Amino acid sequence: MIKQLTYQEIKSDYGNFKYWEHPTLSGHIIPDIYWVASHIRYQKIRPFGWIYCHDLVVNHLWKIGLDLMTANCDIDMSHGAGCFVPKHINFKTDKPLSRHSWGIAIDFNIKDNPIGQIPKMDKKIISIFEEYHWFWGGNFKTPDGMHFEKGYLE
Ligand SMILES: [Zn+2]
Repeated sequence: MIKQLTYQEIKSDYGNFKYWEHPTLSGHIIPDIYWVASHIRYQKIRPFGWIYCHDLVVNHLWKIGLDLMTANCDIDMSHGAGCFVPKHINFKTDKPLSRHSWGIAIDFNIKDNPIGQIPKMDKKIISIFEEYHWFWGGNFKTPDGMHFEKGYLE
């Protein structure tokens, strides 16, 4: 079974950074720019296109992307899809930081998989991500069908 990484594991595997609450955009944060510069990459990874993500998940996303293309999966990166987005969970300042803040989570096919609704994510896509031990947000108590994040196999 694929599990979510704890914050302690995320910080030890992907780094810890200082951050500030965004002064005008509620729920967004401003992470330490030096941490961002040394850990976040901007790369074209098919079929996702140009995305910002953590250095240490680039290889995974490459392999996942190849498998998705081989299996002819539909990936739609419109409607605000992406990976590195420094913010609190659900943009709520009283929630912990989102895994997107580390660039180790990715959202896509948003239109068909809005948060809190029954996900319509293609099962082929879910199983490809799970092969690489990425956790699917469709398994959250409040389903987040568009969301995958780096997890681990237990
Ligand atoms: Zn997400």
